[in-house]
Amino acid sequence: MDSKQEVCKVVGWQEGPLIDENTLQDDLTRHFYYTLGRDRVGESHLYLYNALALTIRDRLVARCRATRQSLLAKPTRQVAYLSLEFLMGRALGNAVLNLDLDKSVKNALEQYCSRFEEVAQAEHDAGLGNGGLGRLAACFLDSCASLALPVTGYGIRYEYGMFNQSIEKGHQVEHPDNWLREGHPWEIAAPEHSRRIKFFGSVEVYQDKKGKKHHQWVDTHDVLAVPYDVPIPGYKNDVVNTLRLWKSEATDEFDLDEFNAGSYTEAVARKNLAEQITMVLYPNDASENGKELRLRQQYFLTSASLQDILFDWVARFGEDFTDFAKFNVFQLNDTHPSIAVAELMRLLMDDYEQDWQVAWLITTQTMAYTNHTLLPEALEKWSVPLFENLLPRLLEIIYEINARFLVEVACKWPGNVEKQRNMSLIEEGDVPQVRMAYLAIVGSFSVNGVAALHTQLLTQGLFNDFYQLWPHKFNNKTNGVTPRRWLSHCNPKLADLISQKIGRDWVFDFAKISKIRRFYDDKKFQQQWQAVKNCNKQKLVDLVKRDCGIEFDINMMFDVQVKRIHEYKRQLLNVLHVIHLYERIRTGDTKNLTPRCVLFGGKAAPGYFIAKLIIKLINNVAQTINADPLAKPYLRVAFLPNYNVTAMETICPATDLSEQISTTGKEASGTGNMKFMMNGAITIGTLDGANIEIKEAVGDDNFFLFGAKSEQLDDIRAHYDPLCIIENNKELKDVISLIESGHFNLFEPGLFQPLLDSIKCQNDEWLIAYDFESYIKAQNRVSLAYHDQTHWTRLSILNTAASGAFSSDRTITEYSQDIWQLTQNESTYGEV
Ligand SMILES: *Cc1c(COP(=O)(O)O)cnc(C)c1O
Repeated sequence: MDSKQEVCKVVGWQEGPLIDENTLQDDLTRHFYYTLGRDRVGESHLYLYNALALTIRDRLVARCRATRQSLLAKPTRQVAYLSLEFLMGRALGNAVLNLDLDKSVKNALEQYCSRFEEVAQAEHDAGLGNGGLGRLAACFLDSCASLALPVTGYGIRYEYGMFNQSIEKGHQVEHPDNWLREGHPWEIAAPEHSRRIKFFGSVEVYQDKKGKKHHQWVDTHDVLAVPYDVPIPGYKNDVVNTLRLWKSEATDEFDLDEFNAGSYTEAVARKNLAEQITMVLYPNDASENGKELRLRQQYFLTSASLQDILFDWVARFGEDFTDFAKFNVFQLNDTHPSIAVAELMRLLMDDYEQDWQVAWLITTQTMAYTNHTLLPEALEKWSVPLFENLLPRLLEIIYEINARFLVEVACKWPGNVEKQRNMSLIEEGDVPQVRMAYLAIVGSFSVNGVAALHTQLLTQGLFNDFYQLWPHKFNNKTNGVTPRRWLSHCNPKLADLISQKIGRDWVFDFAKISKIRRFYDDKKFQQQWQAVKNCNKQKLVDLVKRDCGIEFDINMMFDVQVKRIHEYKRQLLNVLHVIHLYERIRTGDTKNLTPRCVLFGGKAAPGYFIAKLIIKLINNVAQTINADPLAKPYLRVAFLPNYNVTAMETICPATDLSEQISTTGKEASGTGNMKFMMNGAITIGTLDGANIEIKEAVGDDNFFLFGAKSEQLDDIRAHYDPLCIIENNKELKDVISLIESGHFNLFEPGLFQPLLDSIKCQNDEWLIAYDFESYIKAQNRVSLAYHDQTHWTRLSILNTAASGAFSSDRTITEYSQDIWQLTQNESTYGEV
């Protein structure tokens, strides 16, 4: 056998594209010994992990090619999902699950005397997102692939993802997340598909021989966008879609002038400027920060992705865009990529010589916008001077879109100048601002909210003017989460127990999960359910012990609130309850007190002072309580550092009580609530976001409801008097007094005053004092219910059984039918 044949044999070309479980062991060994050049497994399993990832990736690449080829076989309507964030977490476990390789992987690892769970620990989270919005994008990609829908994700390959959080002396400390340092075996660079992105410069207008005006964006500083493709496997269907992440690089001729002037080293050093664009993820959740670099990121992602799609179109069909809108949809994940509206206009007009009317028709037939928040501080605006400097041609186009749009407004509301001012894409003021949400609405054929209440509030409040103009654009798509990662993968014991009873279909047809409802009163099933929960609780005990040094006890209720730290999410209200329980213990009022372990976790934006102070309060309260022997039998409190996707995979299967306690009208949907529900946690929550739909699905008796209702809010806020509420509620008064006395900050006097002030403020947007009493009452009902373990287990089973609608498969099916109008792609994998 000559050496070429040898290579072919090792790679398995003769077998065709089918590489399967039979060759997995050989491939693993080949990658370990040859690709990585190793011969022993180290402490961290890093190389074994990398070899395994490459082995799995081979199988993904083969299917990805087949998926792409089947799309090329005939023109197919496709979606580009544009998002500045994809909070993917780890990929290995998910890929092994979706490719159904559990058994062969376990067998293959035996020769290395390694367990899969240990090897999987070596993978860094891909933390390219802040929280819910980024994780939603990740769940959507899983569902799109699992439903065989032709959807490509487009995002940014941040060099540094979401910061790592440690807690030092009770304070949050941020550490850079250099997640690529040890390599990223899942991605494949495709430099041949690099795109040029323009910045700065100016616009020149000239007339051609026929008298037609052309705009040229000249003297620009260009940056290269280099794509890295990450495979997205569907669940056991041989479909593998793609997430294309763009990295910024300097062009070769960058600052040639300086080079010619002899400043060679300076010119090369300038490369940094280009590479800065994709250096770091902005760690702000639900608030904008207005930094120029952020706008550069947004334009960079958007321009690269649109150019990519147009280039492929022209390569296939030439510069005929008649059918472009028939075959393409762009879904904008929040306003972050909403500059796409102006950029698609620019590309069609300036690069492909389309008229305004044609380009506008194409744009408004292809763009769809998802709104994620009602918080005014999160609505993106960019100053006009900044825009003019950075993206002069785009500002021109936005002005033209606005002029034409305001004519429409004037037709609808003749003579109403205020309407025009309110709806203008440009907000007047000392420094005029571009309103990105309005740009997105005007340029899109679909605008959706992410839960029923949220969409209702959007159409009645924030976007009411636009709703009156274009009611047909607005629709709701309640969020969901993927049951593959958030049940099968993270809670395999529960998944097996469920499958024993109702078969395995529920994993790809999650509505079928309701079949386990039949067993909620079955004694043996209840015992098995509880045994699984205890096993999961023990894993969380180990994690909390390792990362907090605190002993949790599986015999106590696990009461959990993990999510970004934000005033509207009201971790502060939860701490007040914890302090109230502590007061009861101190005063001997322990009758009917259900022992609890209370877990907090979440990151605060580094510049968000109050959120960071809430973290400090949680840690100080935890320290005081955990050090008190009186409290030990009843109450333990921990703040788990560095909450991320991987931590959530251990947390949600172990949780008894899910805290979803945002101020009504502030949480657009929530998705953490859904992960907990699927895993059999019971929710204590307000009538906010998707909580409302969760409560409807599971039934009022199986959900612990409290707090103000959204229709009461105006009235409550008009007469809000927190001092009076505190004075008249002994429990709240005692809690506030204990904090005020410095009990939790003996050596840091006055530390928590800003939090006390915020609670007592008449304008407290978050209504902490208002909801305290009903929250405590609901918590007392929780305690009573937990007392009866059989009853609680029933509730737990009923919650999982009712979680069918909260699969992202349901959400994506709705996007696909109502907005995207896609048909399923048929993978040709294996049809050789
Ligand atoms: C699901 C998830 C979120 C969103 O949680 P909410 O409670 O909906 O805010 C945020 N971060 C991570 C890591 C998640 O897995």
